[in-house]
Amino acid sequence: MDTTTEIAPGRLLIDGAWADAKSGATFTTVNPADESVIATVAEAGPEDVDVAVAAARKALAGPWAKMTAADRGKILWRMGDLIQERLSSLGLLETLDTGKTLFDSAKIELPMAAQIFQFYAGAATKLGGRTLASRSDTFAFTLKEPVGVVAAIVPWNFPFLLASWKVAPALAAGCTVILKPASQTPLSALEMGRIGLDAGLPPGVFQVLPGSGRGCGTALVKHAGVDKVAFTGSTEVGKSVLRDAAGTLKRVSVELGGKSPNIVFADADIEAALRGAFTGIFYNKGEVCAAGSRLFVERGIHEKFVADLAARADAVVLGDPRDKATRMGPVVSKAQMDTVLGYVESGTAEGAHVAAGGRRASEINNGKGYFVRPTVFDAVTSEMTIAREEIFGPVLAVLPFDDAADAVRQANATTYGLAAGVWTRDLAKAHRVARAIQAGTVWVNAYNLYDPALPFGGFKQSGFGRELGIEALDGYLETKSVWIDIGR
Ligand code: NAD
Repeated sequence: MDTTTEIAPGRLLIDGAWADAKSGATFTTVNPADESVIATVAEAGPEDVDVAVAAARKALAGPWAKMTAADRGKILWRMGDLIQERLSSLGLLETLDTGKTLFDSAKIELPMAAQIFQFYAGAATKLGGRTLASRSDTFAFTLKEPVGVVAAIVPWNFPFLLASWKVAPALAAGCTVILKPASQTPLSALEMGRIGLDAGLPPGVFQVLPGSGRGCGTALVKHAGVDKVAFTGSTEVGKSVLRDAAGTLKRVSVELGGKSPNIVFADADIEAALRGAFTGIFYNKGEVCAAGSRLFVERGIHEKFVADLAARADAVVLGDPRDKATRMGPVVSKAQMDTVLGYVESGTAEGAHVAAGGRRASEINNGKGYFVRPTVFDAVTSEMTIAREEIFGPVLAVLPFDDAADAVRQANATTYGLAAGVWTRDLAKAHRVARAIQAGTVWVNAYNLYDPALPFGGFKQSGFGRELGIEALDGYLETKSVWIDIGR
């Protein structure tokens, strides 16, 4: 695989052209594997948001509005093709910015993003309303109209993939989109902007504004010219986005944090469950909103299961995420590493037992880079901080349970409700538990499966609105009812 790449322009994409920030401000983005600066990027502020929103509003009424759904679909399909053609350079950029392995970025996440653009390319031509025949004196029908200008605000854990979850359905619906990537990982979003231009999106239809949450993010959320905010991030910031959006009563969808339960019954295929428990928490260094960060293991198999899982965690090869041998790269930033290590300290202080990891891997790269050993905590109780709060790193809390009722009670004892896993060979039990768990997604004898056709989103404080699937389109459409009097 190519291991050099052309770094994105590092400028804002506004109205079809690359621009510096009006204030001249810039920020740097850092490679978490060696702490080197990858690129200097223009930092959008409120004045840039004003310009981009004006361009997005103009584009909403321009050639984009007159294009057929099939033509919008063709552009989206072309964006998917261009992602496929640029997999190795895009993958490297994503790996440098996030610390995820090259395998995960170039072989899993970017191809999935390409599929998402092509799924919504087809969906664009299937949009339509209903006709209603409930009265003989009127003809009534519903129209589905684009909601308007969408601000898509995304986190740093899957920068390109999670952007595709918003940008593709919003464009399919006929909206115009301003994408704000997380300030830790702005580079692949700029490349998505370039792909949009190369695929033929008219100027202003898709713009990219790297910047901070407080500066650029808040300005987008409060802006009267933005009709909808599609936000993915932490629950805390999600709440502040809702407060800021209330002033203009704009549409908001929020995909937020999680503390997802992964439940292993004694009658499960234990080898499959071990693999599922492992990837459930350690995929992408645990920086996954749906990470199975609370592992519930039936008491009879608990001790051996934890020992086997800990042995697998201890065997993980950490290192440069570009190396083929590496199975886990660094966490995304120093701040995130400090947060994760703080949780490790709190777990130990509150009496949990470190069965694997539990430390920074400072032996790698002479201590440069934000590497944390995959960590398994045993002897965890439900009151401990590590069992309640989202850590968003490679740290697993294992808790035993007695029977299905106990497992469901403990699994639901959280303010979150994003995802869950259930491992059992008993089909009826799997169905019962899947229904009883309060979460937007439940995987049975699997974990972390995603498909463009299956909706994803939260219950409870994991947010509301759905991404992926036909359901995601609803978030980018308004429904208008039209009545025609035919009685006279
Ligand atoms: P974050 O909430 O700190 O930031 C997310 C995005 O919001 C970033 O682009 C950030 O710059 C921006 N932002 C920050 N403050 C803002 C404000 N006041 N107004 C507007 N925008 C603002 O989250 P993060 O640390 O980047 O990501 C980790 C979080 O994201 C975790 O909680 C994780 O569970 C969640 N997440 C959820 C999903 C999901 O689908 N439910 C997917 C991935 C990540």
